[in-house]
Amino acid sequence: MVIHFEILEEDIAGRTGRLKVGERVVRTPILLPVVNPHLQPVLPKEMKALGAEGLITNAYIFSRSEEFRDRALASGLHEVLGFDGLIMTDSGAFQLSVYGDISLTNGEVIRFQQDIGSDIIVPLDIPTPPSADRATAERDLSVTMSRLGEALALCGEKNNVAGPVQGGIFPDLRERAGRSVGEMGFSFCPIGAVVPLMESYRYRELVQVVMAAKKGIPSSSCVHLFGAGHPSMFALAVAMGCDVFDSAAYALYAREGRYLTPSGSAKLQEMGELPCACHVCRSHTAEELRQSEESERLLAIHNLSVSLAEIARVRQAIADGVLFELVDERCRSHPLLLDGYRAFLRHGEALEKRDRVSKRRFFYRGQESCLRTEVIRYHALLKRLDLPSRVVISLDGTGREGFDLTLFFKPPFGPYHPALCETFPIGQCELPCWDNEMVSAGCRGMRVLMESHLETEFSVTCPPEWRDLLMSELPGVQVIP
Ligand SMILES: [Zn+2]
Repeated sequence: MVIHFEILEEDIAGRTGRLKVGERVVRTPILLPVVNPHLQPVLPKEMKALGAEGLITNAYIFSRSEEFRDRALASGLHEVLGFDGLIMTDSGAFQLSVYGDISLTNGEVIRFQQDIGSDIIVPLDIPTPPSADRATAERDLSVTMSRLGEALALCGEKNNVAGPVQGGIFPDLRERAGRSVGEMGFSFCPIGAVVPLMESYRYRELVQVVMAAKKGIPSSSCVHLFGAGHPSMFALAVAMGCDVFDSAAYALYAREGRYLTPSGSAKLQEMGELPCACHVCRSHTAEELRQSEESERLLAIHNLSVSLAEIARVRQAIADGVLFELVDERCRSHPLLLDGYRAFLRHGEALEKRDRVSKRRFFYRGQESCLRTEVIRYHALLKRLDLPSRVVISLDGTGREGFDLTLFFKPPFGPYHPALCETFPIGQCELPCWDNEMVSAGCRGMRVLMESHLETEFSVTCPPEWRDLLMSELPGVQVIP
């Protein structure tokens, strides 16, 4: 396998890394803009100037084009596109999903991609639409798997083939596919056929599909979320462990006069201001951009700039250990994205195993914060705390005489030893005024502590306004005045 992936830093299940294919190295997470040689609102060399380190194009379109096929075969894809970064090619599986049939075999598609010098090539997998029933998904998957086997046999040592993970919306099929692809030796795994879910904002199901696939794919593999997408979902997808994105959205949205932002899109027609720092927005008013003869092209440049900037922001958030804050912020830009975030948080136990030990901060941003991995991990740690026989847990922040130890209380975590007040997460946790959800979560921590230390006698001090909630969460707890 000539595709090497090295993980550098991690946050939640997200990671920054280095993807190396032959001599070409790119940083991940990465966005590969989609290039259609026939329709290029933005040239590949302009993409490079905007910061794109790689791109993706469609080998099937090249193979069908009289204009481009022979040139690509003669001088190579990088030369024809005028781009010396990483170039991945898709096989035509998308065309297959739209038109039902294409005129090339798996072997022909693979050989063609090799002959035009693509860095990462994709076999002709079968994208199973989310509407497909289980029998169809299983049948498609077995065809995909046999084509992956064929690809490995064809490529031998010089294997730069991606191993797509299919399986429709069935989590067990996705997991099994992910595991098989890993066992076959693929180190670059696109999760396929999720575009219909993203187009219809079915983020909850998208999360189920991606989390299931990730469960099967080896954690050392580079994961590509095929066809994603809109910058508002990059942070969430990265937090699940996706490393590579490709996007035609910058061009498709521009064609419809839509202006991308990291928190949604707007119609250029309705905009009075261009709230962005890219060179298009700073050198045009909204009216000038609408009136420009190059309106679509300029809008595509803006859309791509915004998408690439968001990927850079995600990478920085991982380096800083603040990915959760970014995911939370982005997922509040649309209610269905919030649904996706909540579905993601339901995988807290699995995510906790991957998450890093220490972070820059824990900003409480609402009830979802109570389900973060740091809270789950902290509650588990409480079980292992060494305690003397008489302990008071102080919710009001005051010490008490006559106890062997005073623990203080920080929601949503719960009781903490005074020696931990500077360490993560207690020391780096910033809260607004207490609310019911965070205090309830803290009481859950207290319950874990009490149930795991049956030899210890616990008392609690509590401000009057929280006494009712405390008693409903921990009936029978001994509250002292
Ligand atoms: Zn802009």
